[in-house]
Amino acid sequence: MPNALSLNQLSISELTGRLARREISAREITQACLDQIARVDGTVHAFISHDPADALAQADAADRDLAAGVTIAQKPLLGIPIAIKDVLAVKDHPLNCGSKILGKFVSPYDATVIEKMRAAGAVIFGRLNMDEFAMGSSTETSAFGITRNPWDPARIPGGSSGGSAAAVAADEAIATLGTDTGGSIRQPAALCGCVGLKPTYGRVSRYGLTAFASSLDQIGPFTKNIADSARLLGVISGLDPRDSTSVDVPVPDYVAALDGNIRGLKLGVPKEYLIGGLDPEVKASVDAAIQQYLALGAEIVDISLPHTDYAVATYYIVATAEASANLARFDGIRYGQRVDGADPLELYTRTRGAGFGAEVKRRIILGTYVLSSGYYDAYYLRAQKVRTLIRNDFLAAFKQVDAIITPTTPTAAFKIGEKSGDPLQMYLSDIFTISCNLAGISGISLPCGFTTNPKLPIGLQLLGQPFGEATLLKLAHAYEQSTPWHREKPGTLA
Ligand code: GLN
Repeated sequence: MPNALSLNQLSISELTGRLARREISAREITQACLDQIARVDGTVHAFISHDPADALAQADAADRDLAAGVTIAQKPLLGIPIAIKDVLAVKDHPLNCGSKILGKFVSPYDATVIEKMRAAGAVIFGRLNMDEFAMGSSTETSAFGITRNPWDPARIPGGSSGGSAAAVAADEAIATLGTDTGGSIRQPAALCGCVGLKPTYGRVSRYGLTAFASSLDQIGPFTKNIADSARLLGVISGLDPRDSTSVDVPVPDYVAALDGNIRGLKLGVPKEYLIGGLDPEVKASVDAAIQQYLALGAEIVDISLPHTDYAVATYYIVATAEASANLARFDGIRYGQRVDGADPLELYTRTRGAGFGAEVKRRIILGTYVLSSGYYDAYYLRAQKVRTLIRNDFLAAFKQVDAIITPTTPTAAFKIGEKSGDPLQMYLSDIFTISCNLAGISGISLPCGFTTNPKLPIGLQLLGQPFGEATLLKLAHAYEQSTPWHREKPGTLA
């Protein structure tokens, strides 16, 4: 496809339209993504691995469906190549969680989200790079090497779902799945200039997601635009008897919600988000987005989320406590790699010592400490109480407003290596995203501009009520359709 956009650059809605009219085949779409991977992934390294023959076989199955008259209404992702973060189980494919410790582990089953996407006709492919066990904000803690930002290969793509964001930004996949425990979908989406949605806790089944912090983790889509996000969310959402934390709330038609009419909707601007480290260009873009919302007929309301200051500290107690328990299963006996020892204790310590990277060890030590007797009350219990205060701040705000508007990140993408020696600086890059997970609410990041020199994407975050994704998507879509940002492509890979 010379001149015009090539197939791998198109959105789900554009591609399914063309497939339905039989102008193109599913095989051509998958091949276009595979060709792009061959062309750019040597630089980007969004993928840990991928299996072209398996992807093409699924695409051929989609073409047979199309030939047999299966419609897009029946299978809304028919023939669409979607790549998967290396923390989600895909049957017969490797599952490493960006870590060495799982060795040559191959998943014996599909996660629920994978099952649902297969039923919707998607071509499921690839293992996307990530921070080890989703702990990080830059994809630099992966045991499989770093991922580079397609807008500037000297910079990080964000994390922990850095591969998921970079693959969409570099047009190596039409959409991807990632996970968000404290910002790992929204932050890399912002830094790579794509759309990333963290659903409400309980909206999407976590069955088949390797747990980092079980009370915070959610799976969500990375896409090139809001309509695709709505479509993918509709496919993966819903109650799952295999995940007791998934919730029995009906799944609305998210695509139908995108009617462009946001007149009278109220957007809250929290005064606590005007922090010292906010980059002036990020602030200017978010201020301009607020003006744009006014122009579109929304109302802007000043609000306060008074416990915002405690969010990062609370998160690093709750998340590390849960991680220390969840990661106990990687002991050299049940999964993956083993380093033998004279007795079980030595086997455990050798296996875990060799298998986990520094950041994961730091989290396990911190988490074990805050749960230990004598410190439990002072740290873990207190953090749980503060978490409730943070959630109550949001619930009170949502009595006044339909959604909350903030920057997604305080700065655009930083340089590779810039923060890797300073965990606290790294943790602060999630300052705007973390409270959403603690409160269990929904959040989305979408492009809202660029820095000038160098040109790097800036993300706008909208936070929504629990199960308020339809309103979030509607608000995001109205903004997207009235601005040019989502149409820009990184020039560095051309
Ligand atoms: N960056 C945060 C952390 O390191 C969030 C990670 C995530 O959302 N998985 O914990």
